Amino acid sequence: MNTPRLEVAGVAVSPDHYIDGQRVTSHEKFELFSPIDQQILGHVSEGLDEHVEAALRSASAAFPAWAALGAAERKRYLDRFAEEIGKRADDFCRLESTDAGVLLSRMRHGVVPRAVRNISWFANHALSLQDRPIDTEQAHHLIRHDPAGVVVIITPWNSPLMLSTWKLGPALAAGNTCILKPPEWAPLTCSLLADAAHAAGLPPGVFNVVQGAGATTGARLVSDPRIARVSFTGSVPTAKRIAQAAGANLVPCSLELGGKSPFIVLEDADLDNAAATGALMYRNAGQVCLAGTRFLVHEKIAGRFVAAMRDYVQRLVIGDPRDEATEVGPIIHPRQVARVHGFVQRAVAAGAELLWGGDKHPFGAQYFMPTMVTGVRQDDEIVQNEVFGPVLTLQTFRDDDEAIALANGTDYGLGGVCYGESAHATAVAERVRTGFIWVNSFGIRDLEAPFGGIKRSGVGREGGDWSFEFFCDVKDVVIPRKPFRASFSHR
Ligand code: NAD
Repeated sequence: MNTPRLEVAGVAVSPDHYIDGQRVTSHEKFELFSPIDQQILGHVSEGLDEHVEAALRSASAAFPAWAALGAAERKRYLDRFAEEIGKRADDFCRLESTDAGVLLSRMRHGVVPRAVRNISWFANHALSLQDRPIDTEQAHHLIRHDPAGVVVIITPWNSPLMLSTWKLGPALAAGNTCILKPPEWAPLTCSLLADAAHAAGLPPGVFNVVQGAGATTGARLVSDPRIARVSFTGSVPTAKRIAQAAGANLVPCSLELGGKSPFIVLEDADLDNAAATGALMYRNAGQVCLAGTRFLVHEKIAGRFVAAMRDYVQRLVIGDPRDEATEVGPIIHPRQVARVHGFVQRAVAAGAELLWGGDKHPFGAQYFMPTMVTGVRQDDEIVQNEVFGPVLTLQTFRDDDEAIALANGTDYGLGGVCYGESAHATAVAERVRTGFIWVNSFGIRDLEAPFGGIKRSGVGREGGDWSFEFFCDVKDVVIPRKPFRASFSHR
């Protein structure tokens, strides 16, 4: 029997798993509350052994037929899936804003249109991957991108819809069947995603959602030898656990992890532009993996830059994310608020200086002031570790070499931002060791481009062809040009 739908932000959403094309309830539930006002949103089914097992069986059983369909036929299903997501755009916006605290304006103008494209773009791109030939003197190589099998997708709470569809799109288009384990702090838009898949007529078992805690439900899924891939976005400690569990079965993992990305402002930068972009780093209360969180500013312009950025920061609208005008919303969980606050308190106790912010925000228990900490050393905790809140650091440098040394001086290597005269900024950006870096810009993401981090920020790349390299078994069918005859020279 299914649990009645929850009514959240005016949206009727199932609290149950979605397995084998049906809603499946659990006698164990976990409580969900909104980061906006800590109001309880309902109780959601927890994934127990029996649910993990049912999802694995269903996804395994559905795989051969889905894989055999071919990319063009799968595209027809996935186009309908994208369409069904689009039809529910307003529901997705309200739901994720309430469940995860993501800004409604971001949901409306960025996340939902992107979620639709994540499904339709990859479905289309899969068509171009079929049987790419390589011709040499000796042979004709037919390079096939075969589906790999059952893919486990694990996503974090800071952007569940966007990150889940970013992986689901290529995984399904490639011919795999999927089990999505949404974040336990914000699972509701993934549940709505199952409604969209159901309405689109995706065959039972092709897409399953099993909710639950990472350490139990997630851990069971990634350690099962029947799976073919794990695509994970989340924190470094969790990634290590997942890689260990999947590695025991030699299951490949794609790991998109945290960041401590530099935001470099060179002496010849357009300071006003750089400062305006700088203030954007507080969006989603700084809970954005790819934000530039370590400001590295040329010492000659640091005073002017700080004044310009302060001006933008003071004008940020902090409040309820469901209000279209809000620019900085809540932090997901009281535990995260305490964690963010702890970073700032320890930095100040160790002698750092606050340029602005530094404390909880009076708007509500889960709101924190946009904060800038300076007077920090490269080996300080707040410079080395991901805060994942609205807290930035600022250091100065004398020349490009010092800027690059500071930029590269952490264990992370996700992204970066570099402001300066175009050729100069590009030359500096090329020397920063990260998976990507934006020159005089921020946040431009094209689906055909590779995305991922180096060092502790991740393993592998997703996006464009790279997603398919990961989600497929690449196979070379070798056909000789001349008749091949075995010769036994030793006889
Ligand atoms: P997290 O690692 O705590 O959890 C992420 C997911 O992993 C959740 O669904 C959780 O239930 C699951 N999980 C936890 N333990 C597990 C286990 N042992 N086995 C299987 N699954 C398990 O991360 P979070 O706190 O939800 O998210 C914040 C982190 O995500 C930050 O570090 C942020 O930088 C990172 N992030 C990275 C990107 C990127 O693209 N690189 C994007 C967004 C967020």
